[in-house]
Amino acid sequence: MPGTPKTPALFLFAHHDDEFFIAVTMRRLAAARLPVAALWLTRGGLHGDRREAESRQAMELIGVDPSSLHFLRLADGRSLDNLEDIVERLMRLMRELKPASIFTPAFEGGHPDHDTAQLAAAVAIRRMSKVVSQTASENQSGAENPGAQPIHKPTLYEFPLYNRSGARLLRVGEFIPGTTEIKQTPVRLQDRLLKRRLAVIFRSQRAIIWPLTGLRGGPMMVHVKDEPYRQVPASRDYAVRPYPGRLAYEYYTSVRFQHFAGIAARAILPPAPP
Ligand SMILES: [Zn+2]
Repeated sequence: MPGTPKTPALFLFAHHDDEFFIAVTMRRLAAARLPVAALWLTRGGLHGDRREAESRQAMELIGVDPSSLHFLRLADGRSLDNLEDIVERLMRLMRELKPASIFTPAFEGGHPDHDTAQLAAAVAIRRMSKVVSQTASENQSGAENPGAQPIHKPTLYEFPLYNRSGARLLRVGEFIPGTTEIKQTPVRLQDRLLKRRLAVIFRSQRAIIWPLTGLRGGPMMVHVKDEPYRQVPASRDYAVRPYPGRLAYEYYTSVRFQHFAGIAARAILPPAPP
């Protein structure tokens, strides 16, 4: 499992209920007494307060400490317009928590807020490593600085929610094929029961979560498969479509990939030298 003791895994979610798709992995980390923190970007429309309460309830069930929950409360669907604010907040949180790993929704064109969450994390990591390497080289030329922080760079992971790559409608909980090795958190009976309880907790999202997860495996949720996640390649280019052709969100939102790509190209810096 990623993360080492005392260096938390930070989960970055676009919406309340994104955690449904990585809940078992969070639970495993928490059960191993590894610190887990979470940041939600959006507020969740009209039901904002209720949805935040649902996430707090879900985290209690998963075993995440309430003091490790952070909320940015942006308007739903508008996170791309607030990219710089998100990056700033993330960098502050990264300085504070020094996470060993950051988990974000996959870059898969399912929802612009999901892709923005990962873009923000990638931008924050690249900017932070640039600052750290600049500080390190300045220190080399000057006097020795015993208080210097060791270079700290979290590993970025992604988990799939839904996309339209190679699917007539939506592919749920499966990655767009890539070259990075996919890790799987094994899902046992108690984890399926957790997913079932979570599906009930996120009742304001019933219209979305229930059809996505199906709840079709009966009370034991036997159709719930192992939970995939994989490392995000450090060189990923966010100005290139995650797959050729029209993205899922281009069918049901007014956001077009060109808009995302323009913002991504301006925000991202070339990766810092290793
Ligand atoms: Zn979402």
